[in-house]
Amino acid sequence: MGPDKYLKNYIDGALVPAVSGEYLDNITPATAKVYSFIPDSDEKDVERAVEAAERAFPEWSNADIRTRFRILTRIADIIEQNLDVFSRAESIDSGKPISMSKSVDIPRSQANFRFFATAILHFSSESHHIPSEAINFTLRQPIGVVGCISPWNLPLYLFSWKIAPALATGNCVVAKPSEMTPMTAYLLSKACIEAGLPKGVLNIVHGLGGKAGQAIVDNPKIKAISFTGGTNTGKKIAAIAAPAFKKLSLELGGKNPNIIFADCDFDQMMVDTLRSSFSNNGQICLCGSRIYIERPIYERFKDEFVKRTSFLKVGDPFSSVTDLGALVSQQHKEKVMSYISLAEVEGGTILCGGKEVEMQGDYENGYFLRPTVIEGLPIDCRTNQEEIFGPVVTIAPFDTEEEAIALANGTAYGLSATVWTKNIAKANRIAERLQAGIVWINCWMVRDLRTPFGGMKSSGVGREGGLEALRFFTEPKNVCIRY
Ligand code: NDP
Repeated sequence: MGPDKYLKNYIDGALVPAVSGEYLDNITPATAKVYSFIPDSDEKDVERAVEAAERAFPEWSNADIRTRFRILTRIADIIEQNLDVFSRAESIDSGKPISMSKSVDIPRSQANFRFFATAILHFSSESHHIPSEAINFTLRQPIGVVGCISPWNLPLYLFSWKIAPALATGNCVVAKPSEMTPMTAYLLSKACIEAGLPKGVLNIVHGLGGKAGQAIVDNPKIKAISFTGGTNTGKKIAAIAAPAFKKLSLELGGKNPNIIFADCDFDQMMVDTLRSSFSNNGQICLCGSRIYIERPIYERFKDEFVKRTSFLKVGDPFSSVTDLGALVSQQHKEKVMSYISLAEVEGGTILCGGKEVEMQGDYENGYFLRPTVIEGLPIDCRTNQEEIFGPVVTIAPFDTEEEAIALANGTAYGLSATVWTKNIAKANRIAERLQAGIVWINCWMVRDLRTPFGGMKSSGVGREGGLEALRFFTEPKNVCIRY
């Protein structure tokens, strides 16, 4: 088990190059150097993957659920046993601190397999009784061949979050990780081989979104698509999938509000707000990028938050003292910086950050940026409306509960929201009115894998997690028996 210089697709149980024989560069963001090569797959590779998945489907979908449980648990075990190898690969590929890969990304990836391996043992369907006449029961059957497409920010974490429930429910999968962070998906293919996953049940096709990803969405034999990524890509996918009547789950972008009341536990709020703002360089769809603070504590919050943000250590992803590593790519760094310039044009004041980090030695060309805090911007400006997906937050005061709710709901997005107050009645009142799929009160990123996960408005359609995922990956069929 370990990374290779030339990655391969995982099709029909074997590691194979792309049909074209072409490769793409894989760059490590901390050094900006090419360190491995990814198969540049296209529709021919996807077609092979789909054919393999179709061949595997009858046996896998009819396998005893204990067989699926055992194999998925074995995959989880292998990831867990190789924590160091997977974590290192994740940090090299994405630029994130090794401490995060080791404590969040990889443990959660193995937990996804373990959770859905056991969830399928407890999955039951409904029955509806018409007294003295009939009984209805709902069969929950796997859909067939499904497509799973995931982004670069939490590579194996999100990849496995889709693949595990799809496999647990008896589907066969054609999956594509982001071409920017393919290494842990490649290691996963090795783990699947080692775990004895029957050939063709999971197929991993590497390559570009517009080519390999698009071929998955276009393929008529793929009956459902679970996609996590940007809202614009989600729109394109929906436009293709809807007329083909594919089942669709879209987990898209966010512009999440963080509402802080004067009566909060200030110290706890400060610790968690730093995390919710800058974890993974702000490259988590659930990061809070708009912070609204009740006016009586605005100045105190601002001073303390800016001070603590300035202390955050940006740099070597493999150093134990690093808080923020590199952004994922040159292009993404430029995008984030363009928003910082835009914020200034829109009248914002940069309170800290806003600059690249001057690095030495191996890391001198890496994509490092100081975490940035901006104030003085209205809700309707682009900086406060568009997803930046970087270490950039805006702060603004509010005076009333009503105003805080209007600000929080004032974008096209509706993924998550955070509320800080000791007044639980107020917190509940607000939670009911927030347009977000997930509301955290006095915490952030506390995750229970049984809960529904997903967004409203432009943040997506459908929910993942727990029973929602098992339902998404199965077709309900009602059987009515008259007696
Ligand atoms: P993208 O939408 O660019 O890409 C996501 C995935 O889709 C990648 O694997 C990409 O491949 C692929 N892809 C791109 N174009 C197509 C296409 N036309 N057809 C099929 N697949 C395609 O998103 P990013 O990778 O930039 O990820 C960041 C985004 O993801 C942010 O907006 C973030 O908010 C969102 N996100 C949402 C989450 C949620 O749960 N709601 C969680 C995490 C992130 P490639 O990378 O190879 O181009």
